[in-house]
Amino acid sequence: MKYIDIHSHLNLEPLKADHEGVIIRMVENNVSTITIGVDYETSKEAIEIAEKYDFIWAGVGLHPTDNTSEDFDISKYETLAQNSKVVCIGECGLDYFRGADESTKEKQKELFKRHIEVAIKVGKPLMIHARPSKGSQDAYEDALEILESYKKEHNNLFGNFHFFVGDITIATRALAIGFTMSFDGPITFTNDYDEVIKFIPMESIMSETDAPFAAPVPYRGKTCEPYMVKEVVKKIAEIKGLTEDEVANAIMTNAKRVFGI
Ligand SMILES: [Zn+2]
Repeated sequence: MKYIDIHSHLNLEPLKADHEGVIIRMVENNVSTITIGVDYETSKEAIEIAEKYDFIWAGVGLHPTDNTSEDFDISKYETLAQNSKVVCIGECGLDYFRGADESTKEKQKELFKRHIEVAIKVGKPLMIHARPSKGSQDAYEDALEILESYKKEHNNLFGNFHFFVGDITIATRALAIGFTMSFDGPITFTNDYDEVIKFIPMESIMSETDAPFAAPVPYRGKTCEPYMVKEVVKKIAEIKGLTEDEVANAIMTNAKRVFGI
C-alpha cells in the first residue's frame, strides 16, 4: 500500500456496519490503516479486524474521556497489547477540552501512566490523545511533563501525538523525546496548522483521518473513511513544498520505523 492512515476507528459506527465497503475503498485507493480502540471492547474488535487483513493493524487502550464507566483493569490491556497485530498502545492521554477539574485531571494522569508502563513493558509506541482546553496547551504540557520524566528512566519509550493541534513549543518538546505527530482532515480546511507542519521535520510527521470523524475537503459533511487520508497527504505536500509521492513515501517509512509494520 502506498498510503497509511495511522489512526482510524473501523470498530466504531457507522464504519463498523459498512465494514466491507470501507475496506474495498481502502484497497482501491492503496490505503492501509491502524485501527484504534477507545475502550476494552473496541480494542478487542480492533484486533479482530486487524487479524483479517494484512494491511490493517490495531491499537489498544482506554481513551481519557470515552467510556469512563468501564471497570478499568490495565492487565487486560496488557494481554491484548502482546498480540502481534497490535502496533501501539492507545488511544490514551489527557483531554481537558470540555473542562476538567483537578480530580478528573489526576484520574486521567493515573490512567495515562498505566498505559505508558504497558508501552514500555511490551516495547510498543504510544498513540496519544491530548486535547487542551480552549486557547491553551495545558493537556500537552501535562502529558509532556509525564512523558519526559518516564523517558529519563526508559529510553525505549516512544510514540505519536495523534490529531496534533499543538504549537511550535509543544512540537519542539515532542521532537526532543523522539515522538512523532499526526495530522488529519482539519489541515485541509484551515491554515491554523501550516506553521507547525512547516516546522516539524518530514521524518516526524504522520497522516491520519480519525475516521469516522473529521473528513477532509472535499468530503466535508460525509462520514470520514481511511481512503480520504490521500487528501491529508496532498495538503502536507503542498505546505512542505514536496510532491505527494515524496510525502506518501516518507510517511510510510516513518510508520514502518515507529510502528514496526
Ligand atoms: Zn481517535
